[in-house]
Amino acid sequence: MTDAKIRLSVDHPLGPGQSVPLTEDQALYLFAVMRKGVGDAVLLFNGQHGEWRATVAEATKRRGVLLCDRQTRPQTAPADLWLCFAPVKKVETVYIVEKAVELGVGRLCPVQTDFTNSDRLNRDRMQANAREAAEQCGATLVPPVEPLQGLDKLLAAWPAGRRLLWCNESRAGIATRLAQETPGPWAILIGPEGGFSDREKARLAAHPAVVQASLGPRILRAETAAVAALTLWQSALGDWRGGDWA
Ligand code: SAM
Repeated sequence: MTDAKIRLSVDHPLGPGQSVPLTEDQALYLFAVMRKGVGDAVLLFNGQHGEWRATVAEATKRRGVLLCDRQTRPQTAPADLWLCFAPVKKVETVYIVEKAVELGVGRLCPVQTDFTNSDRLNRDRMQANAREAAEQCGATLVPPVEPLQGLDKLLAAWPAGRRLLWCNESRAGIATRLAQETPGPWAILIGPEGGFSDREKARLAAHPAVVQASLGPRILRAETAAVAALTLWQSALGDWRGGDWA
């Protein structure tokens, strides 16, 4: 247990006695917004060295230095699961990123499809949303957000050995389908509001990595489908199987 509540993702090594500079945004957040100061404790993680309790050693409005005291959590890897999704409207896309990180994805892959509403993407903003979600939920790694990529290109360069769960409303139920599968490298694919074009459906159906499954008899909004698919995948093949987190 630790007295520190605030968690920050940093791009700096962590270890016993290690000093860690804050970015200007982090200093503003910690000292101006959260009213923390010298001597207060914060939790830090960097995706490599686990989570560390650190104490504020220097604090000005725009600058800060923390000193690591002790490790509070070991480094853990998220499931080897990617979420490939067609970006939807702004608020819903933020929701998808946030929930995907909370639900333990390892990588976020925005995909441009024939009916994708937006062809531009603020990747830095999405990465910041992923970082905030990781800080909030206790993850020790911020999943990377890949650049927006066309579906054809993504499928053409698909890595060997990674299965792709295409959430397709006209197929058999996901629970039955995943019960036939094994853990390992996976990705989930969620389409845009307009669904996939016939051309894309034919391409996906013919791809050797693709496993098709339905999320039930109702058409879900893309953000609901993403949360439902991630939840079911995690309980069937991911890090929700077994374990004791008490
Ligand atoms: N009008 C679109 C259509 O009929 O294809 C609806 C698309 S839905 C809003 C967005 C995406 O969520 C779909 O492309 C699919 O990947 C996923 N989805 C929604 N409901 C689903 C369901 N019941 N089963 C599987 N996937 C679903």
